Amino acid sequence: MSRMIPKIPVTVERPWQKELADCITDPSELLARLNLSAHENEADSAARELFAMRVPRPFVAKMVAGDWHDPLFRQVYTQSAEFLQEPGFSHDPLDEQDNITPGILHKYQSRALLIVRGGCAINCRYCFRRHFPYGDNHLNKRDWMVALQHIRSDNNINEVILSGGDPLMAKDDFLAWLCDQISEIPHIRRLRIHTRLPVVIPSRVCEDLLAWINSLNLPLVMVLHINHANEIDPLLATRLQQLKRAGVTLLNQAVLLKGVNDSADALEALSERLFAAGVLPYYLHMLDKVQGAQHFDVSDERARELMAEIIRRLPGFLVPRLVREIAGQPGKTPVDLLLHP
Ligand code: SF4
Repeated sequence: MSRMIPKIPVTVERPWQKELADCITDPSELLARLNLSAHENEADSAARELFAMRVPRPFVAKMVAGDWHDPLFRQVYTQSAEFLQEPGFSHDPLDEQDNITPGILHKYQSRALLIVRGGCAINCRYCFRRHFPYGDNHLNKRDWMVALQHIRSDNNINEVILSGGDPLMAKDDFLAWLCDQISEIPHIRRLRIHTRLPVVIPSRVCEDLLAWINSLNLPLVMVLHINHANEIDPLLATRLQQLKRAGVTLLNQAVLLKGVNDSADALEALSERLFAAGVLPYYLHMLDKVQGAQHFDVSDERARELMAEIIRRLPGFLVPRLVREIAGQPGKTPVDLLLHP
């Protein structure tokens, strides 16, 4: 008797622009897709008034249906807890909103961060910029020339970071134009892109993007944002391999989130899966204390316990640095230093 061979589900990839235009924005639809009943949904659903829901369908496809505790689902589902107001949590935890020249954040001496696009493909509920006035940072080409002149005129800047929002929300021809300008500045040694887009819509790593990367005159570092091993499926792994082959250095930063990755098993699995996909763990961030995300907070004490455990389990190159951003500080602060200043 012949054995039944299970069918491998075929994932049909749609162009990234189509995925962007077809994100799930209604909590009820997300619950229905995952076969979750909408009990107490009204109170949770109201939290989208605070910060819109936005979830690309390829990211939903990596969630486990029927599981309220799915670690990917928890990152994007609106919750009534977002209405709680806890002391120490604010709208602008990193004091970014008052001291901004349009389009550019120059917090670190040697690095300038360009806000290439406001908004992201996905709205992570814990996002430290969930209250950020991206609308005030919409630049035209003239504004870009001013931002570029700022970089040109400061020899201390040797690295430009494209951030946002998510810089890969920009069209490839705009990225090519911007990076051409940057690569002509003699003191710039490398370019860095902070993005979550390929993680939530892998087809963003399209031919045009790869062609642009191949034509770049500067070394490119891509810092991805992946919080849980389940975010790395075979499709994403294939796209990451394409980026590696194009010469991109791939790093990851994760946020330590209660109910998502706050266990040694989850952190170990994340590091292992990242390495298998050609990505090195870089930072594990403590939550920035943004209002509406209190329910994701993990204490420093628990974070240190977790780090001690994963240091026992993993080789050093797979252990990310546990850090916190502190408003006004010139760099990220290792959490150990917070204990012994
Ligand atoms: S991808 Fe990053 S910047 Fe965008 S919503 Fe998520 S946490 Fe915020």
